[in-house]
Amino acid sequence: MSVLIKGGRIVTAADDYVGDVFVENGTVSLLGESLDVTADKVIDATGKYVLPGAVDPHTHLEMFFGGTTTCDDFTSGTVSAAFGGTTTLVDFCMQAPGTSFGQALENYFEKIDRAKPVIDVGFHIGVTDLREGGSLEELATLPDQGVTSYKVFMAYKGAVMVDDETLFKTMRTAAETGALVMVHAENGDAIDIIVKEAVAAGHTEPIWHARTRPPETEGEATNRAVQLAHVAGCPLYVVHVSCRESIEPIALAREKGWDTYGETCTQYLFIDESALDQPGFEGAKYIYTPPPRAKENQEHLWHALRNDVLSVVSTDHCPFKWPEQKGHAGEAFQVVPNGGPGIENRLHMLYQFGVRTGRLSLNRFVELVSTNPARYFGLYPRKGTIAPGSDADIVVWDPDKKLTLSASTHHSNVNYNLFEGTDVTGAPEVVLVRGQVIVENDELVAQPGAGQFVKRAKWGEELTPAEKVMA
Ligand SMILES: [Zn+2]
Repeated sequence: MSVLIKGGRIVTAADDYVGDVFVENGTVSLLGESLDVTADKVIDATGKYVLPGAVDPHTHLEMFFGGTTTCDDFTSGTVSAAFGGTTTLVDFCMQAPGTSFGQALENYFEKIDRAKPVIDVGFHIGVTDLREGGSLEELATLPDQGVTSYKVFMAYKGAVMVDDETLFKTMRTAAETGALVMVHAENGDAIDIIVKEAVAAGHTEPIWHARTRPPETEGEATNRAVQLAHVAGCPLYVVHVSCRESIEPIALAREKGWDTYGETCTQYLFIDESALDQPGFEGAKYIYTPPPRAKENQEHLWHALRNDVLSVVSTDHCPFKWPEQKGHAGEAFQVVPNGGPGIENRLHMLYQFGVRTGRLSLNRFVELVSTNPARYFGLYPRKGTIAPGSDADIVVWDPDKKLTLSASTHHSNVNYNLFEGTDVTGAPEVVLVRGQVIVENDELVAQPGAGQFVKRAKWGEELTPAEKVMA
């Protein structure tokens, strides 16, 4: 099967030129002007952008959390992702406390076998317990199996939170095995006290989700993780940075040349804490963690994305239905499962309000949603770029296509949209994964199973293009 994408504006993190892309057997084989080749399928991309498929390194599909399970499985979640131009995601395979990492992975492989993905999927391991079922020795073996990132939670006390001993041991192991450590950075002990005090005082409305998680608790934990990772000698990736207090320690570390990286998520750029303050418990839709912050943080986040203090935008897609799962009027904020949806609208929102407003260049946009996550998570250069030998994960992006974002038209199972009613101009027209057309003209073309599990490379190593593996 060969595909010729003709006459589009090919944009990667580094380049921007008009040309053709010729795809054979799932990989990019030729790039150039007016290529003289015949192909099984020809896509006219005149007037369109040809972008590397986006990589979402932060999703929670079919995850049991807060007494319930996220409402997208690996089929519905990846279909929704594909419609938004995402062609690879890395989901969190969570270790249930008291069980082994092997059991956790087996459980997640069973999930993608039962609800087959339409885009490629990798796994981070969520480390919750190094004492009982899990062990450092077992953790050390995971990078050789293509699971090259360890996620630890410094929050959610009594659930998945780890203490500093576990955090530091995980970091030491990562330094030895070539894994990247990812942290959810909030001071879970302090938050636990503040939440209990608020609830005891009768404050149970959704707005108290933000009031009980002050930004300083995120800043403190971020700084702690940054310093400990430097001592341990491992690379560190801080997930869902939401506020100035956590941007600052990351900026300082990067100034010193430390291996410190930060992501923010689409929602933190657009939704502020006032969204939690709505009548009838509807604010529960916005109970995700860290919480939506005071509005002034949004300018700090945009600035950090522009000057490379933050270098990835992910979604933290963690969908629960409202009100069925997120709670009804009269319930209390502290029992609402934390998480919000957004897997489909990351590129729509970032293109509309980043690129079209001039806040981000087209190259930087590609870097934030595709190239950098591919680099940090051991997928580059097979993913994250359009180059000879790369997987033909490609988005033909129509910069003039108009769309109104809505739960009534998105493809996730979740029944609300954080950006409901937002008009955007610019959306995917054709989405390919390894040369297969997955989405075309707003229709799903691929069957579940079009996506594959990806074994990722270790930190600092490249993921060899598939053609070289076969050779
Ligand atoms: Zn998350």
